[in-house]
Amino acid sequence: MKTRKKIYCPICGNSGLRLVFEYTSPPKGETRFKFSSDQVYYRKILQCNMCGHFISMHDMNITALYSGDYVNATYRDEEGLYESYKKIMNLDPERSDNVRRVRRILDFSNTFFSGDVPPHRIRKVLDIGSGLCVFLKRMKDAGWDSTAIDPDGRAISHAIHHVGVKGFCGDFMVLQSEEKYDLITFNKVLEHVSDPVKMLSKAVSNSSPGGLIYIEVPDGEVAAAQGKERQEFFIDHPNIFSFSSLSLMMMRAGLLPLCIERIKEPSSKYTLLAFGRVCG
Ligand SMILES: [Zn+2]
Repeated sequence: MKTRKKIYCPICGNSGLRLVFEYTSPPKGETRFKFSSDQVYYRKILQCNMCGHFISMHDMNITALYSGDYVNATYRDEEGLYESYKKIMNLDPERSDNVRRVRRILDFSNTFFSGDVPPHRIRKVLDIGSGLCVFLKRMKDAGWDSTAIDPDGRAISHAIHHVGVKGFCGDFMVLQSEEKYDLITFNKVLEHVSDPVKMLSKAVSNSSPGGLIYIEVPDGEVAAAQGKERQEFFIDHPNIFSFSSLSLMMMRAGLLPLCIERIKEPSSKYTLLAFGRVCG
């Protein structure tokens, strides 16, 4: 007889989860990755009854997703990636999620680092999962020493050659670097990994003492009220957050949450964002 494996919330460890949505075909607008076209599509969204966190469960094989399939399916190749980069850089600032993000981070950092000695030293930012690198381009223009890390070689080649920032190609979890960063950013990254607490803890170890970490994740609570077709619940997100699960994840990783906000972005995404200070 097949025994059912017990499922635990990856954020609070609770085993009480309820079924929220079920899918027998991809929701409208979901990118058709190779793995989901070849296999029977079945997926469900569960919600933790303690911290409100959502998880997406399925048995489809996603091993190759971020080392190639993601760029293949989303941008085709490096040229396609560069074209998308130029298109987003030219968006009307009022319609750009990224312009608002950069403004928000620069405003917060200016206050956060205002007591530093010397006050105007060049600060270092590391962006995890840099993708198109639109964010780091603007941070570089604002005077930050900027470094990208992404598992896809084409994304890093683009970051170095077109954007002019430093770059590491590979899995952040195995990055070995003595470099310490004043700011580490996770712009829509932690929802893509199976153990977000572990990834955030790794970032804490790459931060300067008392450094700042910025996080954006999909807001499952607001999105769920709008129904199962919302992009926040698409297949490439094993984790979708609640206000409580985001703050709990930060504390478990060794971060003091300084500010958490929920927003609706110009692109219509429902997002939770947070700034946390590295403890110790
Ligand atoms: Zn939970």
